[in-house]
Amino acid sequence: MSTTLVTDPKLNVEKNGFLDIELDPEMDLFAEIERLKKEKNAIILAHYYQEPDIQDVADYIGDSLGLAQKAQQTQADLIVFAGVHFMAETAKILNPTKKVVIPDLKAGCSLSDSCPPPLFAQFKAQHPDHLVISYINCSAGIKALSDIICTSSNAQQIVESLPKEQKIIFAPDKNLGAYINKATGRNMVLWDGACMVHEIFSVEKISKLKLRHPNAKIIAHPECEEPVLRLADYIGSTTQLLKYTEKDAATEYIVATETGILHQMMKSNPQKTFIPAPPNNSCACNDCPHMKRNTLEKIYLCMEYEVPEITMDEELRLAAKKPIDRMLELSAQFGLI
Ligand code: SF4
Repeated sequence: MSTTLVTDPKLNVEKNGFLDIELDPEMDLFAEIERLKKEKNAIILAHYYQEPDIQDVADYIGDSLGLAQKAQQTQADLIVFAGVHFMAETAKILNPTKKVVIPDLKAGCSLSDSCPPPLFAQFKAQHPDHLVISYINCSAGIKALSDIICTSSNAQQIVESLPKEQKIIFAPDKNLGAYINKATGRNMVLWDGACMVHEIFSVEKISKLKLRHPNAKIIAHPECEEPVLRLADYIGSTTQLLKYTEKDAATEYIVATETGILHQMMKSNPQKTFIPAPPNNSCACNDCPHMKRNTLEKIYLCMEYEVPEITMDEELRLAAKKPIDRMLELSAQFGLI
């Protein structure tokens, strides 16, 4: 039971971006969330970067590709998206008849914000003979301006599936784009965007850490900058990094991505040690502040009151869906899903 009576949940959300209601501190949130799942035929989809408690109540935990596929397939009536705004938007694009709620509307993304649709439309107009591949970490507006969406799990294969002479714009992540250019020998035109979390790792501090842990393998997400990627023993999407630690023989890893994934790594490999790669600031953490806006309390509240809800103009939704469908078709062809 909430301790405050909510007269107008939508107004409350408009003011705060989330339902700002004081809850009874004695409330068993895990049990209440399970009750709401059954009562409302709801599913909780959570990104690997969510806090451990949220991962533990989720019905599915994954990276962008897995979450998009799950959002498309689910039979649930209510999709609770524990992630950031563009991810919940993707769920709505793929499953318009379902109600999609997000715990906090202000859970944005620095990478998505670095690519505003009006500016990108101008950029695209300057490269009229180019095909646009956009990383899924972008707004519906950018998706609608794209030909194919990709994730870090399938970006390389999608680029390689296109004829060598095909000119390509890659948006919005310049680091992932540069990594794919290097891996494929292409020369894609890159939009100048980046993720604030993956750009803060310190090469110097990682190198020092490696000296103290000489047997540790360095694993990194391709959103990291090139100098960090050069240090890595393995580069992959969040899911690929997790799978790698499950199969690989090493017992110690320095992990250069958002710290949320460490929860699943430790659960899957309790005998191994995982060390978060240090950032180049005085703060010792590399949490995504957007992902970490979500809390168990907010999950409960958005399920109970079914706000904030993701809604979208139908014309925009259809335009944004086309390149996502293309990605899902290609991923199925490559055997990735
Ligand atoms: S980790 Fe980076 S790309 Fe992912 S949501 Fe946070 S800011 Fe966006």
